[in-house]
Amino acid sequence: MKIQALAVLKSGEGLKPFEYDTEIGVNDVLVTLKYCSMARGDVRFMSNFWGDTNFPLVPSSEMFGVVEQKGSDVKDIEIGDYVGIGYQMSSCHECEYCLVGKEQFCHSQKVLAVGGFGGLAKQIVFDSRFVFKIPTELQNPNCVSLMCSGLTVYSAIKRGSPQSGMKVGVVGVGNLGHLAIQILNKMGCKVTAFSHILDKQSELLKIGAEEVIDSTSTDALKNCKNQFDFIISTSSKSLEWSQYISALKPLGNLMFVGLPEKEVSFPAELLADYAQRGILGSYIGSPTEMRELLEFAKQNSISAVANVYPVSEINQVVADINENKSNFSTVIDLSNWK
Ligand SMILES: [Zn+2]
Repeated sequence: MKIQALAVLKSGEGLKPFEYDTEIGVNDVLVTLKYCSMARGDVRFMSNFWGDTNFPLVPSSEMFGVVEQKGSDVKDIEIGDYVGIGYQMSSCHECEYCLVGKEQFCHSQKVLAVGGFGGLAKQIVFDSRFVFKIPTELQNPNCVSLMCSGLTVYSAIKRGSPQSGMKVGVVGVGNLGHLAIQILNKMGCKVTAFSHILDKQSELLKIGAEEVIDSTSTDALKNCKNQFDFIISTSSKSLEWSQYISALKPLGNLMFVGLPEKEVSFPAELLADYAQRGILGSYIGSPTEMRELLEFAKQNSISAVANVYPVSEINQVVADINENKSNFSTVIDLSNWK
């Protein structure tokens, strides 16, 4: 069958109408798409920022839609279900990671943009084991970003084991960061947002931050010494990491989900300065965590602050993301596909 999409045919080119052939395998579902997100990562894939993009590229690694057809071995997903799809396309289901429900570490996995065509399309065929039913309460464009951005911060936050009442920090308050603030707040933590964009302050307080600190102010950061149980950085900027490590309590962890452009360097003694501090990193999350997050988001009314645009405005949307004009989450309404 043929799928209609928009694709970048060569690195550096704009999006153009594109059609590709695919088949529905025994474990696959055919989903007619309603919404997909466009994030900084998608735009970076379009320009081959990481060097591993496969062209033609159909961008977007988060999408919502409705199941139209299913393969003979598909369990738990029915025709007509409203579903969400994220970055991971497949795994081997046999390795040491797959067998313990950590499919995101499978060495045979495929992911969108590198291994397959994404969600900026009329439809998609996807392995049903990486397709998730979306609760009625979350069936709206503000929740599309839960599928990859939300999962990434949720899994990273769980690894940091934050407990209710703990003091935690979120560095960088874009798409990932504003979801991290909400999740940590609903887990009962006291959340400090670190941002250089102080005009976002009132919005950040509204979604669950207790205070906002200027991430570039050396003086402000000095006052944070030994205060935080956990800090998650979603920033791609190169910041004074020593100051953030010093801001941790003796057993605190600094978790990177955003990847700074420059090498991260700091004196190792900061980890052991009357302390046992840790530096952690994280990569997406497992299907089990995805289901957990959807339930958690439903119970706690977590959703992104999204701007929604028709697919006809896609080139302007990409230009705005490139120029840092987009705010938290950007979603494309795919219902008027031509
Ligand atoms: Zn595996």
